[in-house]
Amino acid sequence: MKNNNGKKNDNRLPFPESPSCARSLSRALALATLMLPSVMTQAQDFDAVQISVTPLRDGIYMLQGSGGNIGLSIGDDGAFIIDDQFAPLTDKIVTAIGELTDQPVEFVVNTHFHYDHTDGNENFGRAGAYIVAQENARRRMESTQVLTNGRVQESYLPVGLPKITFFDSMRFYFNGNTVDLLNTGNGHTDGDAQIFFRDSNIMHTGDMFVRYGLPFIDQANGGSMDGMIDALWEIDSLINDDTILIPGHGQISNRQDLRNYREMLLVIRGNLVRAKVEGLSPQQMLDSEPAAGYAPADDNTAQWLLRAYAEYTE
Ligand SMILES: [Zn+2]
Repeated sequence: MKNNNGKKNDNRLPFPESPSCARSLSRALALATLMLPSVMTQAQDFDAVQISVTPLRDGIYMLQGSGGNIGLSIGDDGAFIIDDQFAPLTDKIVTAIGELTDQPVEFVVNTHFHYDHTDGNENFGRAGAYIVAQENARRRMESTQVLTNGRVQESYLPVGLPKITFFDSMRFYFNGNTVDLLNTGNGHTDGDAQIFFRDSNIMHTGDMFVRYGLPFIDQANGGSMDGMIDALWEIDSLINDDTILIPGHGQISNRQDLRNYREMLLVIRGNLVRAKVEGLSPQQMLDSEPAAGYAPADDNTAQWLLRAYAEYTE
């Protein structure tokens, strides 16, 4: 598999000119345009997907359809969302938001570059939203990437790229909340963000924390098991027992859920490091069942363990 680690792109596309007036009208037109069925060409059938809305508190919601969980903040300053799932779902997402507020989406914050969190960027960008992400996430979106699972993700048009980026952190004062966008180091990828609504004590973790078994770690794009574990310690230090966590995928969670997940990774890492110290071959490592009790002994688990083991043995 091609490794894109450290790939640089010297051919940055210029930012598009943004009309300074009639922005609301252009947004309305763009939103109308993106209802057209031209985007319904992907292999996955999105017709049956419905968007569910989970109210949290203080005008903050979680939306679920297909792809990464969406965070939504509405209030006096407007609406912004965290991640935007797949492009064919944009009109359904906009419709669901429209049932909660008349305000257009001002910002889309991407938790990282992966398509199941950012494929709607071009639609929302065309509709006038400013896309915000960690700098490395934008760089990944500028050119074609090969994910660790072999999936090829094409570059986005300039309209779908983040116009505003940050390195370590950025703060929004929006809808009565102090909202921190935080990079806790390379973990799931090399451009992850957690979005922490400090006043409401709600955090969207992106894919640094997920609720499906073993997490996808995109080693080909800067992710690492050690980095993910380090990030989880840092996240844990920021939150408390009352924090509501919106995971990258799966149901609403709390600090104990995050700690259980971290414990899983710590146990598996301990087993992998022990296997390395004992000089086990990859097959011997698999035979020692380092993920027993946490994941089924199937091919997916084996592939995951081999990738993680390579982090320590190569
Ligand atoms: Zn991801």
